[in-house]
Amino acid sequence: MLNIDELRILQKMRSTKHYIEFTFPGMYSVLYNTQDGGILCAQCANAHFDQTCDEDDPQWYIIGYFIHWEGASVYCDHCGEECKSEYGEIED
Ligand SMILES: [Zn+2]
Repeated sequence: MLNIDELRILQKMRSTKHYIEFTFPGMYSVLYNTQDGGILCAQCANAHFDQTCDEDDPQWYIIGYFIHWEGASVYCDHCGEECKSEYGEIED
């Protein structure tokens, strides 16, 4: 669940028709959550903008976003691009 500020940011990105790729400051990669539990990179989210706003298309409908802080890499479910975590893998 997004908090109200995050929801506002998501709505703002929708209204400008542009999903941010990096935070500023920080330049952390921003990834997007789809309704079906998938992950999209910003490039794919922007390339398929109309679908990301379509509630009837759970593979594309974006419900949130996040920064992948730590742990193993995650992959975009569309293009397969690897997104390494910002802090790297956690050592036991
Ligand atoms: Zn992608």
